[in-house]
Amino acid sequence: MESQKKYPPAFSFEFFPPKTEEGRTKLRATCVELGELGPRYVSVTYGAGGSTQEGTYQTVKDILAVGLECAPHLSCIGSSRESLRETLQSYVALGVTRIVALRGDMPSGMREAGEFHYANELVAFIREETGDHFHIEVAAYPEFHPQAPSSANDLQNFRRKIAAGANAAITQYFYSFDAYTRFVEDCERLGVDVPIVPGIMPITNYKQLARFSEAAGAEIPRWLRLRLEAYGEDLESIRAFGHEVVADLCERLLAAGAPGLHFYTMNQTGPTRALWEALRLGER
Ligand code: FAD
Repeated sequence: MESQKKYPPAFSFEFFPPKTEEGRTKLRATCVELGELGPRYVSVTYGAGGSTQEGTYQTVKDILAVGLECAPHLSCIGSSRESLRETLQSYVALGVTRIVALRGDMPSGMREAGEFHYANELVAFIREETGDHFHIEVAAYPEFHPQAPSSANDLQNFRRKIAAGANAAITQYFYSFDAYTRFVEDCERLGVDVPIVPGIMPITNYKQLARFSEAAGAEIPRWLRLRLEAYGEDLESIRAFGHEVVADLCERLLAAGAPGLHFYTMNQTGPTRALWEALRLGER
C-alpha cells in the first residue's frame, strides 16, 4: 500500500442520470446537499448503446450549474471514433476537465459493433484527441472483472489502461478489505503507480445489492449475506447494520493508506451523508 500513501485523500460521489423530470429535480437537491460536504468532484454514469447518453450530458450540465466539479463517465463499446470525438468536444466546451473512461457493456440483445473493444483504447483515443486536457480515471476490479480469463491477465489489462495515459482508478465496490490491499500491492509490483480509489457501495437494500453484485463481479461475503438475509424486509435494520459494516471497512481502508473514497450514492443523500459524518471525512 506504500504507493498510495503519498496521495492526499480525495472523496467523491457518483450519480446516475435520472429518467424523469421529478428525478432531475430530486437529484439537483441531492447534489446541493451532498455538495455542501465538500467532495473533490462528483461523477455521472453513462449508458452504453445509447440508453442514457443524452441523460449524462444533461445531468453534467445540471451539476456544473450547482457549482460542483463534475466528471462524466464515457464508455466506448458500440461507439464510433466520430461520435466519441463529438462527445469529448462537447465536454471540453462545457469546461469539464475530468472524465471516467470505460469500455462499458453492450445492452443485452445488442451485438458488439464499433471501433473500440477495450477501455485502454478509449484512454489512448482521449489522449490523442485532447492531449492533457482531461484528468482520466479508469475502472479497477479488486475481485477481478467477471470476463477476465485470469486474475493475472486482468491485472495486465488494468496496467494497459494506466500505460495508455490514465491518471487514476476507481474500483468496483467490494466488502473485502484484503481484496483491495492485495490488488493494490499486485499493481505496485507491476509498476502501476497511480491513486486507486476504493469505490464504496452503502448497503441499503439487500435484494438490489445481491442482483447488482452477481453481474458486477463484486462479492458479498457469506457472513454478510447471511446476516443481511436474516433481516428479511426490515429495511431499517439492514441500513443500520450496513452502515456499521461499511463505515468499518472505510475506516480500515483509510488507515491502510487508501487515497480517498468514491461513494456510489445511488442518487440518495442519507446513506452517503451518514458515512461521511461517521468517518469525519470533512476533517481529513
Ligand atoms: P476494460 O478495462 O476494457 O476491461 C473489460 C474486460 O476486458 C476485462 O475482463 C479485462 O481484463 C479485459 N481486457 C481489457 N483490456 C484488454 C485488452 N487490451 N485485451 C484483452 N482483454 C482486455 N458501465 C457503464 O455502462 N456505465 C458507467 O458509467 C459505468 N461506470 C463504472 C464506473 C466504475 C468505477 C466501474 C468499476 C465500473 C463502471 N461501469 C460502468 C461498468 C463497466 O463498464 C463494466 O464493468 C465493463 O464490463 C468493463 O468496463 P472497463 O472499462 O472496466 O473495461
